Amino acid sequence: MRGSPILDIDLEKIKYNSFQVVEKCHEQGIAVLGVTKGFSAMYQIASAMVEGGVDGLADARMENVMELRKKGFTLPITMLRLPRLSDVINVVKHTDASINSEIIVIEALAKAAKKFKKIHQVILMIDVGDLREGLLKENVLEVAKQISCFKEIKLAGLGTNMGCFGGILPSPDNLGLLVKIGLYVERELGIQLEIISGGGTSSLYLLENHQVPVGVNQLRIGEGILLGTDTTNNRKISWLHQDVFLLRAEVIEVNSKPTMPTGTIGRDAFGHIPEFVDIGVRKRAIVSMGKQDVNVEGINPIDEKLIILGASSDHLIVDITDSEQAIKVGDQIAFSLNYAGLLSVSDSKYVKKRFIGERSQKSR
Ligand SMILES: *Cc1c(COP(=O)(O)O)cnc(C)c1O
Repeated sequence: MRGSPILDIDLEKIKYNSFQVVEKCHEQGIAVLGVTKGFSAMYQIASAMVEGGVDGLADARMENVMELRKKGFTLPITMLRLPRLSDVINVVKHTDASINSEIIVIEALAKAAKKFKKIHQVILMIDVGDLREGLLKENVLEVAKQISCFKEIKLAGLGTNMGCFGGILPSPDNLGLLVKIGLYVERELGIQLEIISGGGTSSLYLLENHQVPVGVNQLRIGEGILLGTDTTNNRKISWLHQDVFLLRAEVIEVNSKPTMPTGTIGRDAFGHIPEFVDIGVRKRAIVSMGKQDVNVEGINPIDEKLIILGASSDHLIVDITDSEQAIKVGDQIAFSLNYAGLLSVSDSKYVKKRFIGERSQKSR
């Protein structure tokens, strides 16, 4: 559609960010999985990650994994959400490894793998404090033992996840615990674990400070490569690009209006009672993009003088009084995105995607 909001995606910057992350990780003996769920696994972006040198891809959604396979990606893909008991067939068919915490699911994966004459790799998830998925440490050995009974399952290693539910930061302590549990399992069962997977973007901070415990040899990186930010540690990653994505949308009205609505205040379009502070007449622009296009809490105007006042499903109201630009109808306003914003636009059919630096599709 003409004038649709556009998401510009700079593939060279994705490639650069991937390369930087890979280089820093490899220096410390750590492999990198490029996590594709933040952008609904658009293949152009996944390709740029691969060109940047990631060792494998990972996603939390089977739809995304299948799309990547359909586009011809052959490198290892790890399923990053605990498989559904009802979906083990697809997990075995389309991925090489999955994270797991339920023996009943692992047993079902084994049965499925047998059917397809495959070996499926399991990364057993250990909860070291964030309280999302994973076994508590006292149960690890027992489950690892049970896994070793399944011929079609290879216990590839242990992993942990942080910063997602409890907001717990990775530390030498909690990652060290993961490594220790791994050594204990190896010793007790006389096996070798290939992978100790020490988290996502929030672990890059430790990496920079050479504090990732020896033994951790895999990280699963999405946000850092895509946005150059580390939300859990509340920081920009100085050595990565923050402007891979740019969202632009067209102005459809410019007018000066009071800041207080007139009349009796009821509920807004989403059932909330809006509150206003009267700061006099302000110049505002209406942008043709709303909550159906994007999670407006996940976007920020590039022009720092602009203030988002609110949004309904199809309209975004922006205070433009202080801008040095003379914004007029037909102009575009540009926004940066955080992870929530990116998630919301990536699969919105109302937001056009434009790839900058797209090249022949050789490197899958
Ligand atoms: C989403 C996800 C990641 C990637 O996290 P980022 O913070 O985007 O790097 C890693 N591991 C698991 C299990 C995930 O679900």
